[in-house]
Amino acid sequence: MIYLDYAATTPVAREVADIMYQVLTEQFGNPSSQYRIGLEMKKQMELWRKTVADALDCDPGRLFFTSCGTEGDNWAITAALWHNRRLGRHIVTTAVEHSAVLEPCRWLERQGYELTVLSPDSQGNLTAEQVLEAVRPDTALVSVMLVNNELGNLYPIADIARGLAAKNPQTLLHTDAVQGFLKVPCSARNLGADFITLSAHKIGGPKGVGALYISPRVKLPKPLLAGGGQEGGLRSGTEATAQIAGFSKAVELRRDGLAEKLRHMELLKAYAVERLASIPDLKILSTGGAPHILPVSLEGWPSQNIVNDLGSQDIFISAGSACHRGKSSHVVAALGLPKKVAGGAVRLSFGPETTTAEIDACADALRVHHDTRMPML
Ligand code: PLP
Repeated sequence: MIYLDYAATTPVAREVADIMYQVLTEQFGNPSSQYRIGLEMKKQMELWRKTVADALDCDPGRLFFTSCGTEGDNWAITAALWHNRRLGRHIVTTAVEHSAVLEPCRWLERQGYELTVLSPDSQGNLTAEQVLEAVRPDTALVSVMLVNNELGNLYPIADIARGLAAKNPQTLLHTDAVQGFLKVPCSARNLGADFITLSAHKIGGPKGVGALYISPRVKLPKPLLAGGGQEGGLRSGTEATAQIAGFSKAVELRRDGLAEKLRHMELLKAYAVERLASIPDLKILSTGGAPHILPVSLEGWPSQNIVNDLGSQDIFISAGSACHRGKSSHVVAALGLPKKVAGGAVRLSFGPETTTAEIDACADALRVHHDTRMPML
């Protein structure tokens, strides 16, 4: 198998699976139980929280575990609107956000909120000025992702935060850092966002766990889930201790030699750009800022056919985000590219384990697809 879809999800390392197994079978106490194994687990939870918080450079007391990145995005949006309910009902976001941001925003629009959706340029770039221009006195929330999951573009969150502080300090800023965490500089202190969403399964952690950072200036919102009072009373429900242990272990492993891992992915991306350049009709859509995502288009060849053809050879790449399940990508559509280019867009994404031999195999398969299949777009 050649797996080049690390932006969709990643395998877990043996150490991650081991700690999860141990927590499930031995350290299985409920952190709310008042006897030894419960109290020990409560302490352990805080150590795991600290590991993730340290990697995000934030106060562990402001980091809340969630069930996934989608939950973090949804929660940030509702919490920001609750906090600023007297300020206004205007939201600024971008056309290239993940559906976990865009769908709740669209739902809110149907409930009477006003939505400004900014479009990037044809390379997927977006400036802080563009975002700040859209901000009004009644803007309750700005939500802009740190790294785009289909293009790899990096967005200027710290500049947006600084601009908001000058223009409209009450407006809260959310960034979906699911694709940025441990891939690009991602310090809560430096980003200056009020909410930062993370997800474990993009960095070698298990699926089904994430975290949301909420800055101290946000009045803690009404609980997302009311009940037993876990996660500081904001998100009740018995903690997913094994998932959280796996998340923490994945963070620990990823941070070990992180600079070399990132350098490896950067070099791979450069290698892939060079290797793919020889394929006729292949266009690089964005070289972006993140080291692990490379969007390309085989102009004229429908992306789903490419994905299926390569998939039949056990080479896994994607046509846009995995969450689209075959629907055409709203992110690529937002670039306003000609139909032939947009229709042929596929994403290659890498992990620390990816090799140049895997890129070679993928490039060869794309070349064969080009040479043997009829263009249809
Ligand atoms: N945000 C971005 C940018 C993503 O890439 C993803 C996953 O694809 C999500 C949010 C959703 O994360 P999760 O799969 O943990 O719900």
